[in-house]
Amino acid sequence: MSNKQAIVIPDLGDFGAVDVIEVLVEVGATVAAEDGLITLETDKATMDIPAPADGTITALTVKAGDQVSEGDVIGEMTVGESSAAQPAEPAAESEEAPYEQTQTINPATAAAAISDTDQKTQLLVLGAGPGGYAAAFRAADLGMQVTLIEKHASLGGVCLNVGCIPSKAFLHAAKVIDEAESMAKHGIRFAKPEIDTQALGGWKASVVNRLTGGLKQLAKQRKVSVVHGTGEFISPNAVSVALADGGSTTIGFEQCIIAAGSAPIRLPFEPDDARVVDSTGALEIDPLPSSLLVVGGGIIGVELGSVYAALGVPVTVVELTNELMPGADRDLVRPLQKRLAAQFKSIMLNTKVTGMSVADDGINVTFEGKDAPESETFGKVLVAVGRRANGQKIGAEAAGIAVDQRGEIAVDKQMRTNVPHIFAIGDIVGQPMLAHKATHEGHVAAEVAAGEKSFFDARVIPSVAYTDPEVAWVGLTETEAKRDGVAYEAAAFPWAASGRSLAMGRDEGKTKILFDPANGRILGGGIVGTSAGDLIGEIGFAIEMGADAEDLGLTVHPHPTLSETVALTAEAYEGTLTDLYVPKKKKR
Ligand code: FAD
Repeated sequence: MSNKQAIVIPDLGDFGAVDVIEVLVEVGATVAAEDGLITLETDKATMDIPAPADGTITALTVKAGDQVSEGDVIGEMTVGESSAAQPAEPAAESEEAPYEQTQTINPATAAAAISDTDQKTQLLVLGAGPGGYAAAFRAADLGMQVTLIEKHASLGGVCLNVGCIPSKAFLHAAKVIDEAESMAKHGIRFAKPEIDTQALGGWKASVVNRLTGGLKQLAKQRKVSVVHGTGEFISPNAVSVALADGGSTTIGFEQCIIAAGSAPIRLPFEPDDARVVDSTGALEIDPLPSSLLVVGGGIIGVELGSVYAALGVPVTVVELTNELMPGADRDLVRPLQKRLAAQFKSIMLNTKVTGMSVADDGINVTFEGKDAPESETFGKVLVAVGRRANGQKIGAEAAGIAVDQRGEIAVDKQMRTNVPHIFAIGDIVGQPMLAHKATHEGHVAAEVAAGEKSFFDARVIPSVAYTDPEVAWVGLTETEAKRDGVAYEAAAFPWAASGRSLAMGRDEGKTKILFDPANGRILGGGIVGTSAGDLIGEIGFAIEMGADAEDLGLTVHPHPTLSETVALTAEAYEGTLTDLYVPKKKKR
């Protein structure tokens, strides 16, 4: 049994005549109720007009470029002849999208939800980390009215407040101590450093405050409305906010960008004791503990362990797998591991922490592993076993947003979640959990929300451990190439042949690049050595530009610099290197 039904434009809220920018279905398509039929665009938002029922489209009278208003009949359908198992023809763009969009905005419902709230905004951004503030500022620059919700007193998220920036301030201090010490063998001897942990902590705080204070200014200049409180979805178009000053409010939005980040993973047997800390607690260095156990040999654990070791604390690292910093190529980690082995009291690989208990003189930790002690007591324990996305802490279900078991929110290349007017970016969408990824994704989400055709299409995202030496890599690693059977040829330039590196008193560095044997294009690269994190950008740029070995090798680099090693690696691949004798890999 089927009935004919007119397809009518529903209540469009405050909007009159609205542009049709896309027709999503064709005559003859079978659709389910709520499937998008056409996309409308106002100066503030895009919205899909949903099918009023299951059925088959028998007529469509609009095309892209037309204008429609509430009550206009835009077609006809026979009702009752479709099922959800027979989806309508997908539109070209959603064919590309890796995730099905399971919700369609009904403008009438959206308008109702927004009008019930205390405040209204065009774009709501939840979380003011490097993803959220970048998204909010970009959207404001594109003319949107933006409200940014942040539960902490300062903007900047984990990265500025308790992540990238404070850890790098301490790592700089560690490097100064190590470098001063290392000059002793070259004729310059300094006295043993006196460490004032309060002053050092104060300097770290001043660096952080300078940056977060700057963000506050930038938000003000852009007229981004900042609300300090904890936000939770109460519908697909509204959040309630428990305000930092005690009250609460509700905010309705037309579009939303979720940038609520991630939190450290805790071990189930962690005692509730101030001496067991996560990375945030480890950044409080006053007073220094008698000893430190770092649980987890990833980048964060190794960086923070290096800081404590430089400040004179005996540091032990325990890592479940057989390697520090899993993910990076072993030949790049080896020089770092060698140096850390001399700086740390002990590095226990293939070892599991099985329990922790509180003792008078510290935290007693039990281990399982071939070379591990049965138990040992530490003045402080840093648990750095990874981070978990915050997707399950924001009331996502009230908005219909799909969140997986890891707390991550799936998005398409435009950073849209399964609810098309809600985007997600940064740590909350999963690995790699890095600030620069969050920022780039934030820009894309803001641009799409503002109606631009933007995509996150970065070929590569660099990773850096800001240790000494630094380890950095981008694109294909040798480990991945071997695991996945990707054809590649590698060339390397040892920094023992770099005049600049030797003049800095260091010879353990290495620059390595992987090339496509078919055409010499750069597939990936890794660097270990001083400032590797600053150098890796050139290899990332080369990959994005589709550059090959010749492009890098023929680019005149300044001498003597560490950046030269990138060009010299390409020359080693090309067989044109004169600074070393390297058997020819390839003559092109
Ligand atoms: P976050 O920075 O986590 O920001 C999320 C924000 O949302 C937070 O401010 C939070 O308070 C807020 N929020 C969460 N829920 C709510 C809610 N319900 N309501 C209101 N507000 C909410 N990355 C690098 O690229 N380089 C580094 O050198 C580096 N070093 C690091 C060192 C450490 C010690 C740590 C812990 C991390 C480091 N990272 C580094 C990772 C980096 O900090 C994150 O990848 C980055 O901060 C993620 O940005 P984001 O915007 O997704 O989320």
